[in-house]
Amino acid sequence: MKPEVYFSSIKEQSRNDCLRTLLKHMDAVLSQFQKGSFVGIKMTVGDKRNTGHIKPELVKILVENLKRRGAKPFVFDTNVIYRGQRQNAVDHLNLAYQKGFTPEKLGCPYIIADGIFGTDSKTVRADFRNIKEIRVPSFIGVLEDLIVLSHITGHIMTGYAASIKNVGMGMASRAGKQVQHSSMKPVINVANCALCGCCIESCPVSAVSEVSGKAFINSKACIGCGECIACCKFDAVQIHWHEDENIFAERMVEYAQGILSHIRRKLFINFLFDITEECDCIAGSDPKIAEDAGIVASTDILAADKAAFDIIAKKADIFSRDGKIKAHRRQFGYGEEIGLGHLDYGLKAL
Ligand code: SF4
Ligand code: SF4
Repeated sequence: MKPEVYFSSIKEQSRNDCLRTLLKHMDAVLSQFQKGSFVGIKMTVGDKRNTGHIKPELVKILVENLKRRGAKPFVFDTNVIYRGQRQNAVDHLNLAYQKGFTPEKLGCPYIIADGIFGTDSKTVRADFRNIKEIRVPSFIGVLEDLIVLSHITGHIMTGYAASIKNVGMGMASRAGKQVQHSSMKPVINVANCALCGCCIESCPVSAVSEVSGKAFINSKACIGCGECIACCKFDAVQIHWHEDENIFAERMVEYAQGILSHIRRKLFINFLFDITEECDCIAGSDPKIAEDAGIVASTDILAADKAAFDIIAKKADIFSRDGKIKAHRRQFGYGEEIGLGHLDYGLKAL
């Protein structure tokens, strides 16, 4: 049977009412989040200067709905691997509060799931073509209820960023993010190395040692796990960003599938507002590349992402950047191939 995708159009209603309409019609789906259950709401506050992200007042509408059911919602994100205020939980939380994601405005706590330095994670076995183990926050395998809120945007590598990216990349630990971005081994930028010893201690295969007062990575011993990148607080472990975009997309899909296979009850809500060419990790506010359309939601992640894509880019693939990027199509095709979800869906326009 085709999965259902609910679509609440923005026409003739405010954004807040658009979400209220959606939640009203999804009452049966939301009833799976029961009294006493911890419901993790995954979302991102975006870069300091980004304004396109999902706003706290919208999140609060969902939080209050869940609380009325007796559930215990909390909003969470993980730390990122690139330099900026979301690289550690202290700066990340301060940024979130500055942008209005306070417990008062959300109606629930905002939590950084992989800890202060992004090292509170564990390794879980997986068996995919590219990824044989996933590195994820320690609550994976314990948390049973998940709602993913995603702001639809373009993306410099994946072309299109929606729920799959929010889960596959956004719910990986910092080491897991590194593994998805690159199969290359990291190297030390000695100018930044303070020889704190963290990478030497954390390397699982003892590939890091001290050479001439700086850390040094033996690339023959290194297995590319990313733990040294996660623990370095001095930006001294360099990340190789260059990777085949289709392999990158496949790894991200594999991570999404690996993570979601450990969570029982799931809902994916995509917000089709303020759609920009770059994602919310990029500073500033780009011009919009599509008209606001509304909100789509499904318990099937692939159906939710494909439906949002079809609504925005049915006539012209605005995410391909003049045909240069095809990784979003690989997300869809490979996602269905490995059983992440369904591309064929039934649209329920509200
Ligand atoms: S963690 Fe960073 S600063 Fe510390 S020794 Fe390793 S590379 Fe140098
Ligand atoms: S990537 Fe992993 S294996 Fe390689 S040096 Fe860093 S911690 Fe060690």
